[in-house]
Amino acid sequence: MSLEELFKEIIIEHYQHPKNQGHIDHPDATSDGSNPLCGDEIAMELVFDGNRIKNVMFTGNGCSISQSAASLITEAIKGKTIEETRTIMDEYKGMLAGREYNAELLGDLEALSDVKKYPARVKCASLSVAVLDQALQQKK
Ligand code: ZN
Repeated sequence: MSLEELFKEIIIEHYQHPKNQGHIDHPDATSDGSNPLCGDEIAMELVFDGNRIKNVMFTGNGCSISQSAASLITEAIKGKTIEETRTIMDEYKGMLAGREYNAELLGDLEALSDVKKYPARVKCASLSVAVLDQALQQKK
């Protein structure tokens, strides 16, 4: 299997069987956003434990890129500190912008690296990061 095929398979798997999809009873932060160009919508709910993201869940509608990105990014940041989460978000945004990135740090998020070849889809892939960023700003 080529790397491209593996990446496609990861995206399809997370689109069909998303991780962290649903609601949290008493979230500390909530945020939502949309990408009208494609019709993507993502909402996130977070629970903090000190400086750590104890839990994160999302709901959404839209294309396979936007929804798999939400699944992949929530998986990547769950249990991480805010600082670690910011680093992952920056690396991920850099990857989508075509810059060098730390593949080890991004893990399965690297599956979305080919999206940079399709500028119209970059907004799909970055919606979750924008929503997450808004949620993190609610952290006191
Ligand atoms: Zn989309």
